[in-house]
Amino acid sequence: MTENCWEFMKCGRDGSNNQSICPAVTDSRANKVNRGRNGGRVCWAVDGTFCAGRVQGTYAEKVLICSECPFRHKVQEEERTKFRQIYFKI
Ligand code: SF4
Repeated sequence: MTENCWEFMKCGRDGSNNQSICPAVTDSRANKVNRGRNGGRVCWAVDGTFCAGRVQGTYAEKVLICSECPFRHKVQEEERTKFRQIYFKI
């Protein structure tokens, strides 16, 4: 079973507590990308996510932060040649 970012980070932004739900959890356009639920395995490409407890901004704004994220590396290793960096058309 593949892990989604909120399970790996245990951020609680998946509705499991009183905090507001992160766009990575609800963005259905990204569903099944990298075998994830909604944006759960492509969260670096979802605008406005809540990592590190603050709104992270757009894909362009957070690309450097996310490039160092252990979860992103994990997904890249697990997906190998099927790994997708983004889910939207440029
Ligand atoms: S993007 Fe970050 S804050 Fe949002 S659900 Fe994933 S781990 Fe949690």
